[in-house]
Amino acid sequence: MECNYCPFECGVDRQLKLGVCKAPAEFTVAKVMAHFWEEPCISGQRGSGTVFFAHCNAACLFCQNYKISQLRFPKAQIYQDEEFIELCRNFVKETRVHNLNLVSPTHYAGRLLRILPRLKQEISPLPIVWNSNGYEKESVIEELAGLVDVFLPDFKYADNTLAVKFSRLPGYFEYACRAIAAMQKVAGDPLFDQDGIIQRGVIIRHLILPGQIENSKRVLAWIAENLGTQSYISLMSQYYPVHRAAEVPELNRRLTEEEYREVEEYLFALGFESGFLQDLDSNSADYTPQF
Ligand code: SF4
Repeated sequence: MECNYCPFECGVDRQLKLGVCKAPAEFTVAKVMAHFWEEPCISGQRGSGTVFFAHCNAACLFCQNYKISQLRFPKAQIYQDEEFIELCRNFVKETRVHNLNLVSPTHYAGRLLRILPRLKQEISPLPIVWNSNGYEKESVIEELAGLVDVFLPDFKYADNTLAVKFSRLPGYFEYACRAIAAMQKVAGDPLFDQDGIIQRGVIIRHLILPGQIENSKRVLAWIAENLGTQSYISLMSQYYPVHRAAEVPELNRRLTEEEYREVEEYLFALGFESGFLQDLDSNSADYTPQF
C-alpha cells in the first residue's frame, strides 16, 4: 500500500522502500513510559501513558528526542498490530496512567487508523491523545474523528523559511493551520474530568525559539484570529541547544528571559485566557525523557 499519510506524500510501499520519514511499515516503538512532565491536565498525578514512536517526518535541528526521531535507534522494538494493541492495553492497566499518549504518531497514521477502533475499546474509558508536530494532512485528521479524544499538536512556525531551514518541512504553516483547525472540529471544546484531566479537546503547543520572537507572535496571532482566544495554548520555554543546533549560530543558545516575557505579554495582549506557561528553568535535559 502506498504511503501518502503526511504532507510529503511519498507514495512508497513501506514494506519495500522507505519514504522521507524512514519509518518501516510496522510500528516501531522507542519507549513506553508514564510521563509526569506533560501539561498538568495530561500528566495528572499518575502520569500520561506515553508511547514514543521511533522516526519522524520532521528533521528538526534542535530535536530533544533526536536519538529516536532521527538516528537509528537500536533499542526500538517492532510491533505487529495485535502486539501493539496488547502492549498499550497491558501498559495502561499496569500503570493506571490517565491516558494513552501517542507521541509522533503521524508517520503511523495509516496503521493507527486501522487499529484505533479496537485499541480504543480495549483501553476504554481512557482518552487517546494524538501528540504530533502539526505537519499533517487535514484529511487524515478528519478520519481520526471518534478515534482520538485529545489533540496535542505543535504549532512550530508561521514562517515557512524557518520551517525548511530548521526542520525540513516545506509549507509547514499552511499544513499546520489546516490540520489544527480540523483537530478543533474533530475534538470540540475541551472537557475535563473531576480531577482536571482533559478528556477531549485540543491544546496547541508552541516552543519559542531563540531569536525568533516574530515567528512566535505570528503563530499566536493566527490562532487568535482564526481559532479564537478561547483556544488552549501551551507556551513552551524549554528550548536548549541539542542535536545539530550548533550548526546554526542563532539556535546555539537558550532563550533569554526578555524573549520569553515578550511572547508571554503578547499572548495576554491578544486576549488568550486558557492554557499553560512554562518556567524558564525547565529549559534543561532534566525535563526531557532519556532514551
Ligand atoms: S509518513 Fe513517511 S513515507 Fe508516508 S508520506 Fe509521510 S514521510 Fe512519506
